[in-house]
Amino acid sequence: ISKEKGGNVAQFFDDSMRYKFQDNLLIENALRLVVENGCGFEQYYQPKTQFGEVTSMEALIRWHHPDLGHVSPSAFIPIAEDIGLILQIDEWSLNQACRQNKKWQDEGIIEVPISVNISAKHFQQDYLIPMIESALLESGMEAKYLKLEITESVFIKDPNRVAEVIRQIKSLGVLISIDDFGKGYSSLSQLLLLPIDEIKIDRQFIQDIDQNDKKALLVKSIFDIANGLKINVVSEGVETENERALLVGIGKGEIQGYLYSRPLSKEGMEEFLCVQTGV
Ligand code: C2E
Ligand code: MG
Ligand code: MG
Ligand code: MG
Repeated sequence: ISKEKGGNVAQFFDDSMRYKFQDNLLIENALRLVVENGCGFEQYYQPKTQFGEVTSMEALIRWHHPDLGHVSPSAFIPIAEDIGLILQIDEWSLNQACRQNKKWQDEGIIEVPISVNISAKHFQQDYLIPMIESALLESGMEAKYLKLEITESVFIKDPNRVAEVIRQIKSLGVLISIDDFGKGYSSLSQLLLLPIDEIKIDRQFIQDIDQNDKKALLVKSIFDIANGLKINVVSEGVETENERALLVGIGKGEIQGYLYSRPLSKEGMEEFLCVQTGV
């Protein structure tokens, strides 16, 4: 087909494919080194707030490579999933988050749950439960302060097995959140059948919600169902005061987004919290 469209089109397509492939190879090799050496990642934290108070926070991985520069997790996490490195990366994120959150608790800085993003790949392995148990044991953080963010994509493969793993996680006392809610599929049935604690409404529904009646109606109905089921609701990617005001009017829930704070380094978060509490 591309040949029929003319040589130039085919050429351009081949070139861009090749460059993308080379970029991925660079990232792939660099990732292998970072994981082998056990350092090179950093963890950032983004607060979630309710009535202007920090009620929890999300751990987000950051990677600065000496040659590649800052590589976004949206770029390297899918590659890590393809080459089987995601298990070690998420293990690092989980351990780091539990340690840091426990430290903040011990130092009297803040006592809230911390959320960690966990790839769907873990649900096809047997290592997830031991990994969580070990992170809790080693950090000494209580299970109720750990929340795992998973996306709807985990339910594509073997939903029964996933439901069973979720029940096991819950039996440890760890909380479960559905990230990017509404982006995937079968959202409602999961809500009704699974013991989840939280949904995070995807940013696409939040963006400009104050200017879009259909979005507002949709989000309101999500709030109503979740509130009825006693499921916590987080609005992701809140950037403007108008969006915030509309969401607060719709229902009870947490707000997360650049309006309050971008993801912050450990030091940045400590400064942010001091300002918040007026210390
Ligand atoms: P996510 O879990 O849905 O996280 C939200 C993303 O939106 C983050 O991007 C965050 O920085 C960004 N964000 C937050 N507020 C706003 C806002 O108001 N406006 C806009 N435009 N963006 C906002 P980030 O940090 O680049 O992470 C991207 C994705 O990478 C995350 O999406 C998550 O799926 C994944 N990720 C991050 N850390 C980890 C990790 O340790 N393990 C795994 N498996 N995935 C991770
Ligand atoms: Mg998340
Ligand atoms: Mg999200
Ligand atoms: Mg999102």
